[in-house]
Amino acid sequence: MALEKLGKALNTALRKLARSSTVDEATIKEVVRDIQRALIQADVNVRLVLQLTKTIEKRALEEEPPAGASKKEHIIQIVYEELTKFLGTEAKPLEIKERPTILLTVGIQGSGKTTSVAKLARHLQKRGYKVGLVCSDTWRPGAYYQLKQLVEPFGIEVFGDPEEKGAVKLAREGVEYFKSKGVDVIIVDSAGRHKEEKGLIEEMKQISEAIKPHEVILVIDGTIGQQAHNQALAFKEATPIGSIIVTKLDGSAKGGGALSAVAATGAPIKFIGVGERIDDLEPFDPKRFVSRLLG
Ligand code: GDP
Repeated sequence: MALEKLGKALNTALRKLARSSTVDEATIKEVVRDIQRALIQADVNVRLVLQLTKTIEKRALEEEPPAGASKKEHIIQIVYEELTKFLGTEAKPLEIKERPTILLTVGIQGSGKTTSVAKLARHLQKRGYKVGLVCSDTWRPGAYYQLKQLVEPFGIEVFGDPEEKGAVKLAREGVEYFKSKGVDVIIVDSAGRHKEEKGLIEEMKQISEAIKPHEVILVIDGTIGQQAHNQALAFKEATPIGSIIVTKLDGSAKGGGALSAVAATGAPIKFIGVGERIDDLEPFDPKRFVSRLLG
């Protein structure tokens, strides 16, 4: 797993620091170089890597450790803090405030959207919410059956009609249907098959106007590396409400790239997909993520 590799490389750099007998400028520079190399190998944007490591180096060279902490401990703390900041600082959990809370998911076909919708439904169900899913993907009739197959074992209902061609109509009817059933959360899954993002965003806007979601969630494939930046940006410009799920962070060589690229847009990443199974979804918390990465 690529992120594991990044974690190992960062760990090696920090262990080298822990083992060194003195912490002088040369040691710090060497550690910073190792961190740089690890991040670049994980496909993190070079400019961002340079910025980040410059800050780490400056702080490590200039700051005095707080009382009770050694120089080494302090440098490790700096690396931890700066990496966390780099990935967005605070966790922004998905909030279910109103009943029903309506969520709209968008994303390019193949991004892992359908799987993520099923995972999210299961995640919320495990937390005690009654969830209804609406499939408004009129481009791919199979989407409805795929979603149904994923969540049926858990008794989660899917509203859809593979014959229907009006995505907005389906979305609206689905929301009405689940409102009448008294569910806590309604997730509307929109189509992902559009040649260009413009068509996708246009449909998102139309559905959005029809169902007035509390939050639009964009699903981005974590294997596309730094291109994730532009996708996230286009989406962020199209809608003020929005959060992001970055998928496939289990298998990609570019996981670090996608994650940091999305974080750089300032759009909150709320979940990451870490596998193909329905339980392979994790709430994204930069602090916890970096702690785990550094071991
Ligand atoms: P959609 O076209 O965006 O709806 O994409 P799908 O949900 O059908 O997913 C496309 C492929 O990606 C499927 O084979 C999924 O099993 C796979 N996939 C989705 N999320 C993840 C993930 O987090 N990790 C891995 N390894 N595979 C994923």
